Amino acid sequence: MNFIPLASPDIRSEDISAVNEVLLSGNLVQGKNVQLLENRISEFVKVPYCVLVTNGTATLHLTLLALEIGHGDEVIVPAFSYIASANVVELVGAKTVFVDIEIDTYNINLNQIKSKITPRTKAVIVVHEFGLCANIRQIHELCIEHNLNLIEDAACALGSYEENCHAGSFGVAGSFSFHPRKAITSGEGGAIVTHNENLAKKLRALRNHGIDSNNQNEMDFILPGYNCRLTDIQAALLLSQFNRIESTLSRKKSIANRYLKEINNSKITLPYVPPNKTPSWQTFHVILSENLDRNIVISEFRQKGIGVNYGAQCIPEQTYFKNKYNLDSEIEFPNSLKAYKKGLAIPLYEKLENYQIDYIIESLNKL
Ligand SMILES: *Cc1c(COP(=O)(O)O)cnc(C)c1O
Repeated sequence: MNFIPLASPDIRSEDISAVNEVLLSGNLVQGKNVQLLENRISEFVKVPYCVLVTNGTATLHLTLLALEIGHGDEVIVPAFSYIASANVVELVGAKTVFVDIEIDTYNINLNQIKSKITPRTKAVIVVHEFGLCANIRQIHELCIEHNLNLIEDAACALGSYEENCHAGSFGVAGSFSFHPRKAITSGEGGAIVTHNENLAKKLRALRNHGIDSNNQNEMDFILPGYNCRLTDIQAALLLSQFNRIESTLSRKKSIANRYLKEINNSKITLPYVPPNKTPSWQTFHVILSENLDRNIVISEFRQKGIGVNYGAQCIPEQTYFKNKYNLDSEIEFPNSLKAYKKGLAIPLYEKLENYQIDYIIESLNKL
């Protein structure tokens, strides 16, 4: 059997044709495909404005800049996530305030958010970890009560819902990534959705040298912006994949359902999906029992041809954050530390064949 990677993008001939069309059109950046994709994402997430940018880190970074969050401000972030969720807070000069996760959903703990709010808190970045919505409705209420900006890091959550509401549609901004490990990909790419017209306008300016996107007559620059534009080549690649997003999501769901049903091993704790949530299954993540060494499991599985890996970082344990904040994760973030040390991400993607799924399940059950 060929090696089964952890993730593998499904780029089809029609996607390549869509890219070729742009290449031949001569209109390579910020053409019609960027606009069309912004409209499609807005409709899909049911949020009026969408701004495409270069990646799912620039989305968060520009959002913090647009909200004028910086020195002297505090931003609450889950201790267990991809490092980018916290890096952006540092990049704008604010203080990252970590909160532990729930061990069964890997999502930020609502009650611990409450205990970390201070007069300096300006925002909460909620991560819908691995594509399962956090307790977003309750966190949204809490943010309203305390006048905090709710930013949703929905990088993994295209196609994730709490009840009928899509991830990213609750906060002042929702951020998506199109990295190859996400549901649809342009290599690099990101999208921000927002209900706030002014924020959208500011994000458009920040992405494109500070340009005033409302002024059609004369070019004017209203702030010192970046160049975070997505190319039309990337937008065409994404749009083409977007046309089959429902079948991508439903294939991933059926693979996840097989894992949930057929992985049966006391050494493996499966993820919990609360009944009011529909995950996108960006990652299928399990926790190994205490006596198993996760790194040994990873190398044994790779030898068997299965590309498992750790899922996300316990961010306060990473060198930069350890040196700066020197927090004791064992005491403050025990669940994040456990998810980091004992967590295992298992291959789950559309192109996975049934015989490969059988082999993955069988190997996990023999662990
Ligand atoms: C992938 C990811 C990001 C970063 O997205 P990029 O497009 O790679 O910059 C941020 N946060 C989370 C939770 C992610 O999974």
